[in-house]
Amino acid sequence: MYLKDFNYLRPKSLTEACEMLQKSRDGALIAGGTDLLVEMKMGLRHHEDIISLVDINELKQIEDAGDYIIIGAGVTHSSIANSVLLKQNYSALSEASSNVGTEQVRNAATVGGNICTGASCCDTGPVLLASDCILELTDINGSREISVKDFFVFHRKTAIKKGEILTRIKVPKLKAGTGISIEKFGLRSAASISVASAVALITINNGVCAGAKIVIGAVAPTPFISESASKILIGAKIHELIHDSELLNKAGDAAVADSDPLSDIRGSANYRKQLVKVLVKRTIKNAANRATN
Ligand SMILES: Cc1cc2nc3c(=O)[nH]c(=O)nc-3n(C[C@H](O)[C@H](O)[C@H](O)COP(=O)(O)OP(=O)(O)OC[C@H]3O[C@@H](n4cnc5c(N)ncnc54)[C@H](O)[C@@H]3O)c2cc1C
Repeated sequence: MYLKDFNYLRPKSLTEACEMLQKSRDGALIAGGTDLLVEMKMGLRHHEDIISLVDINELKQIEDAGDYIIIGAGVTHSSIANSVLLKQNYSALSEASSNVGTEQVRNAATVGGNICTGASCCDTGPVLLASDCILELTDINGSREISVKDFFVFHRKTAIKKGEILTRIKVPKLKAGTGISIEKFGLRSAASISVASAVALITINNGVCAGAKIVIGAVAPTPFISESASKILIGAKIHELIHDSELLNKAGDAAVADSDPLSDIRGSANYRKQLVKVLVKRTIKNAANRATN
């Protein structure tokens, strides 16, 4: 299908992009275009103005800010996958990005575009949720910060208001004794959208679980924190987390109970629930192992 005509605008600065977005009646931002152009080609959306973020260098930086890493919304999955800073301090994000699509997709597609599409199957959303990362949204009047847990509102609906651009993502560095892990299940080994995914963030203190966050993707209208699975892990002994155990079964069952999957072309709701249990157990083991190493 051919695209309908649109104006392609290419601002040179963030301020100019905000002004263009504010002025435009129905303007849409484009970063890598790997979601937007697919949706436009399928006739799911049309915009008179497409405003490109490609020339805005300040959106393309990964910075070390002490206890945090600041990631520009326009950083590509390839850059995140290869970032030594992220691999050393928040490895699951690099792992998530390294499993997005194909190399061609990862070279163009951005982390900002990934979460701004608001799809429940996005691969970076659950990893950002695990540490309650902070998002910076900017418009012509300035910037505001929002926790990523308030960002995902429903499938393909986020808290971004008209005129706002996601500019930066603030990721807390993992502290000693904390491990993070992501497990994604897709139908192929590459270029595969998540059928289900699970992230575990585990803190171990004196051989006991002192903190746990379990996040699930692609099995509800948004990625979400399974509070009940997270709670079950607190106080667990390390051996219960790194080996098969009744506790891991309980955490897996709790995450399944919190899920609300749809049946679609990639898998039935029942299949997804079974996946959640397997992925949650696997990712807890991995995160707990990392927390102790
Ligand atoms: C073949 C293929 C395979 C894929 N595989 C995966 C996969 O395995 N996992 C996965 O999660 N996704 C996958 N995707 C989806 C897509 O590649 C990702 O979601 C990607 O990160 C989108 O980023 P983008 O820069 O291309 O976004 P764009 O398409 O440019 O934009 C997406 C949306 O976000 C908005 N937007 C972009 N940047 C901003 C910003 N800074 N502020 C506000 N709004 C913004 C746009 O207006 C648009 O609505 C795949 C896509 C394709 C085509």
